[in-house]
Amino acid sequence: MARIEEYTPIVGQGVINNLRLIAEKLKGKKVQHINSTAVGGGVAEILNRMVPLLQELGVDTRWDVIKGGEKFFATTKKFHNALHGKEEKITSDDFINFMETGQRNIDEMDISGDIVFVHDPQPIMLVNKRSDNRWIWRCHVDVSDPDEAVWKFLYDFIVKYDAAVFSAPEFSRKLPIKQFLIAPSIDPLSDKNRELPQDVIDKVLRKYGIGNDKPIVTQISRFDRLKDPIGVIEAYLSVKKYIDCRLVLAGGGAADDPEGVSVYEECKTYAAKDKDIHVLWMAQDDIEINALQRASTVIVQKSLKEGFGLTVAEALWKGKPVVASHVGGIPLQISHKYSGLLCHSVEGAAFAIKQLLNSPEYAVKLGNNGREHIRNNFLITRHLRDYMLLFLSLYHNEDVVYL
Ligand code: UDP
Repeated sequence: MARIEEYTPIVGQGVINNLRLIAEKLKGKKVQHINSTAVGGGVAEILNRMVPLLQELGVDTRWDVIKGGEKFFATTKKFHNALHGKEEKITSDDFINFMETGQRNIDEMDISGDIVFVHDPQPIMLVNKRSDNRWIWRCHVDVSDPDEAVWKFLYDFIVKYDAAVFSAPEFSRKLPIKQFLIAPSIDPLSDKNRELPQDVIDKVLRKYGIGNDKPIVTQISRFDRLKDPIGVIEAYLSVKKYIDCRLVLAGGGAADDPEGVSVYEECKTYAAKDKDIHVLWMAQDDIEINALQRASTVIVQKSLKEGFGLTVAEALWKGKPVVASHVGGIPLQISHKYSGLLCHSVEGAAFAIKQLLNSPEYAVKLGNNGREHIRNNFLITRHLRDYMLLFLSLYHNEDVVYL
């Protein structure tokens, strides 16, 4: 794993010195991250790199994962969808089960952090165990238009925290606690994002039987309806009438997402009629995902809702032209026609993909601009700084702190 000093050529010595100075001020404080899965999805992706880097900077940091059964995760997936504005039938039995699992975690989990950093709704009840430590609720999802019943249920826990963190300005809510705006980030030196030799990329293409004889259009995502994989296939089919290309839909599941396999099966069935569509259920393998992104001509992220969309940042960092929906945190990453193309529909996605496949120079320009935008705003070094300043601010008395 890369050490903090290795980021200097990418972000400059000043940024690294600054991180060391801030970290110094957190000496003696224990930070404890808690979420609901160690594998799969953006939160685990970030914590896997954030935790060791904080430790290397000298911030005493640990990461724990709550326990939950099938029913609990089926309920929290419904919460997730409902918070994103999707209609879900949530019964009183679901709320009771959520609370029973929450209570079991309260009873069993060792909470030793001076700062307890809770990610997303699944572990939210742990705040009932608060003592004289500081508690942060980190919301990674788009809650700009949530189902009111679920939001109200969560609200009673959120107000017990010292602070809430959101990824985009539109997600902030009326809350009686401090709110912070901190966007997620990618690690440019992780296996997911580091440079790869061409033979590694070729090997991965061969492994999955993907020819590089024609342009490759790719969406990498968990198989989740909110990522609209069927919409991606429809857009591809529309492009294919004019330009011969391949589509790669690659992803897997997450330990806290029970819907993955059924969405994958739906995609396989829908795609069966076209041999140039590759629907891949991937093992969690960062180098393979990295290779697929690098092998792609255009990367798509046609989400219907999105917290931030790390896959967009990953693609832009690799200098790829991206077509992505104008939802959630994606417009933070893509300025339309400058660092990628935004779309609002299947037809819009198809139009944008065609444009990029037909204009390679334009595609390169967007990709290059995208890479610089990610360098300046969405690398893990900026994220480390924001989090450490957030921790420090919890020991000050200001009413509002803007980072
Ligand atoms: N990812 C992965 N393997 C997969 C699917 C996704 O490693 O099969 C990664 C992807 O590269 C990204 C993260 O999981 O780093 C997904 O984060 P994002 O914010 O795009 O979406 P989320 O899954 O959190 O909704």
